[in-house]
Parts: sequence; C-alpha cells; structure tokens
Amino acid sequence: MNVADSQTVSAVLRRAGYVSADRVEDADVILLNTCAIREHAEEKVLHRLRELARLKQSRPEVKLGLLGCMAQHNRVAIMEKAAFLDVVAGPDSYRRLPEMLGRAGDNYNASIDVRLDRAETYADITPDYGGGVRAYVTAMRGCDKFCAFCVVPFVRGRERSIPPSDLMREIGELAARGVKEVVLLGQTVNAYRFGDTGFSALLKMVASIGGIERIRFMSPHPGDVSDSLIEAMATEPKVQPHLHLPIQSGSDRILAAMERGYTVAEYLALVARVRAAIPAVAISTDIIVGFHGEEESDFEATTDVMRAVGYDSAFMFKYSVREHTRAFRLGDSVSEEEKGRRLIALIALQEEMSIARNRAMVGREFPVLVEGPARRGGGMMAGKTPQFKTAIFAVDTAAVGTAAGDTVNVRVDSASSHSLMCSLA
Ligand code: SAH
Ligand code: SF4
Repeated sequence: MNVADSQTVSAVLRRAGYVSADRVEDADVILLNTCAIREHAEEKVLHRLRELARLKQSRPEVKLGLLGCMAQHNRVAIMEKAAFLDVVAGPDSYRRLPEMLGRAGDNYNASIDVRLDRAETYADITPDYGGGVRAYVTAMRGCDKFCAFCVVPFVRGRERSIPPSDLMREIGELAARGVKEVVLLGQTVNAYRFGDTGFSALLKMVASIGGIERIRFMSPHPGDVSDSLIEAMATEPKVQPHLHLPIQSGSDRILAAMERGYTVAEYLALVARVRAAIPAVAISTDIIVGFHGEEESDFEATTDVMRAVGYDSAFMFKYSVREHTRAFRLGDSVSEEEKGRRLIALIALQEEMSIARNRAMVGREFPVLVEGPARRGGGMMAGKTPQFKTAIFAVDTAAVGTAAGDTVNVRVDSASSHSLMCSLA
C-alpha cells in the first residue's frame, strides 16, 4: 500500500514539474514514506532520517520530508526528535505537497499537513507505475473496523472506495502499457463499495479488461468474505486462487479482546467454504503473538488453528502497543522476551508447514506468469504460480515464450518453504 501511495506522490510531484533523481545525493527533495503499524518501524525511520539530514549539511537547500502513517500518528514526537524536517504530510495530504514544498523554505518552519479527509481518494491521479508485469492499484482507502490493537483507522481515516469508472480507466491504461496482473489494494479491500458496486462486481468488471490476465487483491478481512466473493473467485478464471485471511489469534477470548468480529469456529467454517468452492486455493494469514492478556493456553490455541488450517504462508508479528487504539489502555501483559519466544516458535511451525505444502506440489504443473530473471541469477527466470508461490526455472534458449509477461507451464521438481524449483513443462 505504501508503494502504491509513493507512486501517487510521484505523480503529484511530476504534474507540478518535478522529475525523479537517480541517486539520493542528487535530489533536491527527499521524501520518506512511512508505516506506523508497529513501533519498530518508527525507530528505523528516525535512524534513516538522521542519516539523510547529513546531506543537508553540505546542501542546505535540500528539503527533507516525512510522509505517511508515521507522520500522521505522532508528528509532535517526530518534530521533537527530527527538528530538521521541512515537510510532514499525512496520507490524505499528498495533493498539497507541491504547495507545502514551496512554503517549506520560506521561514525555516516545517510545513505540516496531517488533516484526514473523508473524501480524498486520489481517484483522478494516475499513479506513476513502476514497470513490470504486476501493478498495485488502490481500490479503497482507510478502515472503519477499529480492531482494538490497530492504528490504521486513526492514521488512514475513514473507509472510502474509488469509483469503478476511475479504476477501470487506470487499469485499462496499465494493460495498454503491458501490465498483465493487477493487485487491488485496500486495508479491508473486500469491504469495497461504490454505489451499487460491491467487491465481487468490481472483480468481474476488472476481469473484463482485455490484456489483464491475472487479478489478485490484498488485504481482505475475514468478516467481509461474502458468498458472492467466493463465487467470483471460483468462477472467474482471471481471479487467482489465493486468499489472504488474517486470523490474528486462534483463541476466542483473545479474538474478542481484539474486537475482530469473528470466532475461531466461524473462521474455520469460512476456510472450509472457501476450500470447497476453490479446491486449488492457497490460504495465507497474519498472526499477532503476545497481545495483552494472551496466556500460554491462548498461544497454544493459535498453534492448533495453524495446524488445522495448514496455511501456505503467514506474516507473524509481536504485539506492539499503539497509542490512540482501544487496546492502548488495556496494557501489555506479555513480556518482550515471552513475545519473542512465541514468535520464534510460530515461525518455526509455519516454516515446517510451508515446506510441507510446497513439497505437495512436486510433480504438478502450473501456469507461471514470468516476471524476469530470478534473483539467484544463473540464467534462471522467476514468476508466480496462480497461488502466488515463487516458481524458479531454467530457460531453454531455444524455446519461445519465456520473456517477462509471458505465461509458461512449469512442472515442480523440488520445493523449499519460499519457492518452487521447476522445469518448463
Ligand atoms: N486489514 C488487515 C490487516 C492490515 S494491518 C486485516 O484486518 O486483516 C497488517 C497486519 O499487521 C495485521 O493483520 C496484524 O497482524 C499486524 N498488526 C496490526 N497492528 C499491530 C500491532 N499493534 N502489533 C502487531 N501487529 C500488528
Ligand atoms: Fe487494522 Fe485491519 Fe482491523 Fe482495519 S481491519 S483496524 S486495518 S487490523
């Protein structure tokens, strides 16, 4: 989502006459886009800002700005720790950046704009697409769910969807530029609604765009997975069989405290419905360990659910207390050390399960959308299977159709927890 937001910022500045510099040392304006979801990220950003501030010593005219959720979340604390900042702009203020940058040099006071705006969707601004076969397209912004642990509704504001007509125009332009796969983005992307158009209708509209071959979306909320969404995934061939279903915890007591709005039984029933309708589906998740009040028995309940579901992959985090959230007042009962122990145990369990799930693919064939040379080099190419698993395969130079943007059929020869080693089928 931040990559997509940065592309919007880039488009706003380009319209105002800016061009992008190749190296940070050559830039007159340096903007850092940030995340506030956990505290750890903030420490990293402050460190990076101090490094960048050194560039201002030799070139005082350089303007340094902080963008995004961290700017929104704690601008006061940040301005105290990073007084050298020229611009501080929250996620709804990017349209005003050229103006803010113009003002920033005037009086040595930072230009700060962190007004949240219920109407801002940047719908008319086509982001600067970064190239490649896949593009990320923001379909909705903000979140109205207010899970007890989460800062997103406070830093990104209220839920708002981008009109389907703007999305169709933007994705049509991307298709014309060679994009084959779009990932529709939103904090709770499947809560998308604009007038009569809900999320499954949107998926079908996007599927009608010529040139777009694959459609994915991130991040759906389990509570908003409707029968019509499952039906769209099952019947529309362009919608890829991968569903990210963040569970957060496998304990009903903790889920209630997190105010997630579902029980473990409801979640498992949803997984069963999804698998019945889409047998090839890969399911991934997000889990938080060490939420306030999480006992060993709650943690074990989480590992039980992980085993029961058998996730293809998972993002796992230590609970980080966030100011403004409802859980802020509850406290932070699990020690840092214990959170660390639980996280390591969970990662090890998921690693085992990812390997098992990926090894089960050995011998099977998949269509892979080729993205380009594999990072490991050696003439290998890489792309994703429909389930969003990384497939790595050698290219037969005599064969046609193995350039970025082509779809090739591969057979899986071996697998690790993160990738599938394949040969052209
Ligand atoms: N909207 C998505 C999640 C977006 S935030 C959903 O509700 O499913 C991405 C992930 O960050 C969350 O799923 C959660 O696992 C993690 N996260 C959010 N707030 C956190 C916090 N305070 N501490 C640790 N992890 C957190
Ligand atoms: Fe945060 Fe996701 Fe809950 Fe919204 S639905 S409050 S983004 S965890």
